Amino acid sequence: MFERLQGKTVLITGASSGIGEACAYQFAAAGANVILGARRVDRLSTVSATIRAKHPSVTVETIELDVRNSKAVDQAVSSISGDIDVLVNNAGLAMGTDTVDNLSDAAIDAVIDTNVKGLLYVSRAVVRRMKQQGGGHVIMMGSIAGIVGYQTGSVYCATKAAVRAITESLRAETIGVPIRVTEIKPGMVETEFSVVRYGGDKEKASSVYHGIEPMTADDVAESVVFAASRHPRCVVADVVLLATGQA
Ligand code: NDP
Repeated sequence: MFERLQGKTVLITGASSGIGEACAYQFAAAGANVILGARRVDRLSTVSATIRAKHPSVTVETIELDVRNSKAVDQAVSSISGDIDVLVNNAGLAMGTDTVDNLSDAAIDAVIDTNVKGLLYVSRAVVRRMKQQGGGHVIMMGSIAGIVGYQTGSVYCATKAAVRAITESLRAETIGVPIRVTEIKPGMVETEFSVVRYGGDKEKASSVYHGIEPMTADDVAESVVFAASRHPRCVVADVVLLATGQA
């Protein structure tokens, strides 16, 4: 089912944990070569070692990458030799979440810089490359939060609405160009995300699920790999993937 991915090169941002890490394993299992970007290089090394041990026929490269730094993003993408067939634009965070009247400058800046500006920097560098190489597939990690707001979600929801806007604009810009654009919008997924969001408070982090069993990172990665492995004549444009029971 995923044979079209064999030998393809997939760049994944935010591959040091959660959904990005799960994507790395699943793309490698499908025979794709993976390039893993994130700030925590120790975690990337562990992911890379696991892939090398399980899938010796694929290549794995790790890149220390802070998506908020546009020059570093350009350099990282230029350092990649060969085509980038698929970009999984996944790096993101929701730190300092609070009601509008309590938001700190630091939280507003960090989330917007990462989820909007960072995603744009990576998109820009990779779409330039894809245009030169004659095609590719950009998969954006949006969120149901880009469609529906929730208490203390103002900044994060705004950034994920921006991901939707960027996705739709890029899709319009690539009409007639063989670049496919997909947005995955997951609902509740249990990763380190909520723990980071609540500054390490695991109890508060698990309270966000309201008794619903959250999805796993693997559940989301399956949709990403499915989208990436369709025939080039068709594109999975949008995926909304919710935890069962999630409104
Ligand atoms: P994790 O916290 O497990 O993963 C976030 C990843 O983003 C990490 O690998 C982190 O790596 C990376 N990252 C954060 N900031 C930067 C940065 N400045 N530069 C490079 N990488 C960065 O959470 P998830 O796996 O859950 O989140 C992945 C994506 O999924 C995010 O875009 C999130 O918004 C989205 N999402 C998550 C949902 C959920 O419920 N968990 C639901 C819907 C969407 P490092 O810290 O090493 O840099």
